Amino acid sequence: FNVPIAVNEPVKSYAPGTPERDEVLDAYNAMYKSKVDVPLYINGKDISTGNTRPLSPPHDHKHIVGQYHLAEKKHVELAISTALEARKTWSQLTWEQRAGIFLKAAELIAGPYRAKINAATMIAQSKTIHQAEIDAACELIDFLRFNVQFMTDIYMEQPESTSDAWNRVEYRPLEGFTYAVTPFNFTAIAGNLPACMALMGNVVVWKPSDSQIYSAKVIMDVFKEAGVPDGVINVVFGDPVMITNTVLSSPDFSGLHFTGSTFVFKELWKHIGENIHHYKTYPRIVGETGGKDFIIAHKTANPKQVATAISRGAFEFQGQKCSAASRAYIPKGIWNEVRTHLIEDINSFKMGSPEDMGNFITAVIHEGSFDKLAKYIDQAKEDSDTEIIAGGGYDKSKGYFIEPTVILTTNPKYTTMCTELFGPVITIYVYEDESFSETLKLVDETSEYALTGAILATDRHAIDEATKVLENSAGNFYINDKPTGAVVGQQPFGGARASGTNDKAGSAQNLMRWVSPRLIKETF
Ligand code: GLU
Repeated sequence: FNVPIAVNEPVKSYAPGTPERDEVLDAYNAMYKSKVDVPLYINGKDISTGNTRPLSPPHDHKHIVGQYHLAEKKHVELAISTALEARKTWSQLTWEQRAGIFLKAAELIAGPYRAKINAATMIAQSKTIHQAEIDAACELIDFLRFNVQFMTDIYMEQPESTSDAWNRVEYRPLEGFTYAVTPFNFTAIAGNLPACMALMGNVVVWKPSDSQIYSAKVIMDVFKEAGVPDGVINVVFGDPVMITNTVLSSPDFSGLHFTGSTFVFKELWKHIGENIHHYKTYPRIVGETGGKDFIIAHKTANPKQVATAISRGAFEFQGQKCSAASRAYIPKGIWNEVRTHLIEDINSFKMGSPEDMGNFITAVIHEGSFDKLAKYIDQAKEDSDTEIIAGGGYDKSKGYFIEPTVILTTNPKYTTMCTELFGPVITIYVYEDESFSETLKLVDETSEYALTGAILATDRHAIDEATKVLENSAGNFYINDKPTGAVVGQQPFGGARASGTNDKAGSAQNLMRWVSPRLIKETF
């Protein structure tokens, strides 16, 4: 299998005076002033339904940057029948033909579409340029490149043969069509979920999040230009219940690739279970859902390093990562020093709109998210076992801005130590230096989710103990680092418990879920 060796796309700096800075600002300003129209995309055609909703940036919610069209049931049915038709030819292409298309897509994003996909992500999802570059450009490029390598790893896995019996495995796509349901928080995930299923020969109905539609449109433009044939990936927007009901009631539904909330994933799983007798095959179900990700420091940890892990882990990307640190356990002996560094870090973070390139933190995704975060912050202001030691302010007059907020609690089971908030809020519990072992047990017991976690310590015994006790509490476990920022090809990403099926994003294991292997034995 001769494929280009996958390399991670270098992250550009966007420093003043760099050409990339001018390009992305030009793209941003042009897109901000114009009005985009985003129709459905079915069988390679744009379908305008006339039933539209406006698109507005979260940091300037009264400003309209365009509109998108809502599907009716008949459009979803058309997407399904179209996909099944396209499967007849797509599944018969050679792997090289499919690989070539997605490698081309990676290079289109690395080159001519880079400014556009970053600008769309800055506008639609309110990301700073650095966040957009890491996500929409580099991580999506990495997924596309590494997937091709993972695919060849899979194809190379072949059984033993003898001189009179030749055994071979064909890694065939699933029979039927697959369904991708993607989140707002990563343009890379939105692109990867349909792309990796299609790469393995599957056909896809894709429902992006309503809050990511602008950048989803750019992804589809890239896929089209790269040569994804008509009908292989079909995009529908609109009422999630209607779309999902229509998709899941088709007997040809054969796989769900989901990233989003735990609640919705469980509902979809239940729905699939209820329909199980109607399907021609057992559908594959892969989901990455919520997280309540922890940082635990040992008394031997470096206080400045702990503070950086908290401030970066909790507040980068506005805390809107499934992996974001949202609870921390700090020993009393180092707490004062950690606190001083943490407050210094937070005071240095500028908050505002993404077009001001000096900003570190921007708006949260929508009013629902803003109101939820504000409610928990207000509650923490009132409760007797909590104190807000940084941030605590919020303002939605122009955009949905929530200050990076640190809640200190004396109750290790306080609501915000257990409930996922998905925003720039972290809760910290300070424990007695001697209670490290008990604290580890407490962290495990309160880990309903198990996505990411981090231990910071210089004592090897403490690191080993934490690694052991927390073996089921985090699918991605970080030693002396923040619990975020997994890089494709380096840290395959995913977790178990309420966080998902742990079919790591960015791995051959994930791609294996999208094939239905056929073993052929031939005797001579
Ligand atoms: N892979 C990302 C990280 O490691 C998080 C992805 C997500 O939020 O789903 O930070």
